[in-house]
Amino acid sequence: MPARIIDGKKIAEEIKQEVKRETERLKAERGITPGLAFILVGDNPASQAYVKMKGKGCEEVGFYSVTERLPAETSEAHVLGLLDQFNGDPKVHGILVQLPLPKQMSEDRILTAIDYRKDVDGFHPINVGKLVTGQDCLKPCTPLGVQELLIRSGNDPGGKHVVVVGRSNIVGKPVMNILLQKKKGANAVVTIAHTGAKDLTRFTKLADILIAAMGKPECITGDMIKPGAVVIDVGINRVDDPASKNGYRLVGDVHFASTSPVAGAITPVPGGVGPMTIAMLLRNTLRAAQGGVYND
Ligand code: NAP
Repeated sequence: MPARIIDGKKIAEEIKQEVKRETERLKAERGITPGLAFILVGDNPASQAYVKMKGKGCEEVGFYSVTERLPAETSEAHVLGLLDQFNGDPKVHGILVQLPLPKQMSEDRILTAIDYRKDVDGFHPINVGKLVTGQDCLKPCTPLGVQELLIRSGNDPGGKHVVVVGRSNIVGKPVMNILLQKKKGANAVVTIAHTGAKDLTRFTKLADILIAAMGKPECITGDMIKPGAVVIDVGINRVDDPASKNGYRLVGDVHFASTSPVAGAITPVPGGVGPMTIAMLLRNTLRAAQGGVYND
């Protein structure tokens, strides 16, 4: 039997509607409009597209948003100055610096300069530390989206063996840290695999829930998973396709055709994790605007 498709687009839309309703309430009861500031440096087409989609998401749910588009040669000092400004701006509750940044800037210095209470991407070292130690905080959007997809599709990770392939700071490590917490919607036994694994299949075969976050097109195939496993494909890869209008198509890190007959449930690409990332960014911004995440 083919796997059940986990429809990220539909679930993300549900979350956006929830955020929209909460936003209307926040405006009516406390006169607060959630605000999100974007900083985009350079002309990377994928980054431009992401910022545009995120800005559109803000409009859909009734947020205030502002985007600073800066040339690739902008100095680090200029971006730090802007961050100072947004950190002190009461209309701005969330700040997102679109990655990657040009080489002349230190990603660490820039991300650390964001007020951690406005760090809706969840990359500030204070938030990373709070996540690891199980304290409430703003958490990275894609990993949060993965958790939410699992919960809302009826695949609670509690007590399951989750295998994550990939150990990046933006996906692999935070998804591990979210799912292993002794909390509702988490409490999984988590294994993390990476290029150091000599035989990757040895690990992927053990997964009740497999999360692929490698950035390698269609690398996970049906023979690498346990029958009935839940497969979450975080990968977004462009592959050449002369037959398509743009000359390329998007594929995940999972080979869908061979994996879906073996899996119990699977996310498609596109339409799986991707839309969830924006939904979680909006939810994080709403939480930042509501206050109460931090005590200081
Ligand atoms: P990344 O920083 O390149 O990290 C990739 C990780 O996968 C690394 O830890 C690497 O191991 C591991 N890896 C690569 N090839 C492997 C292999 N053959 N076997 C085992 N492990 C392997 O990538 P990322 O930023 O985490 O992104 C991962 C994917 O998710 C990309 O396709 C990206 O486009 C996508 N993504 C999607 C969203 C979304 O909104 N849906 C958001 C973010 C990222 P080493 O550490 O050993 O090198």
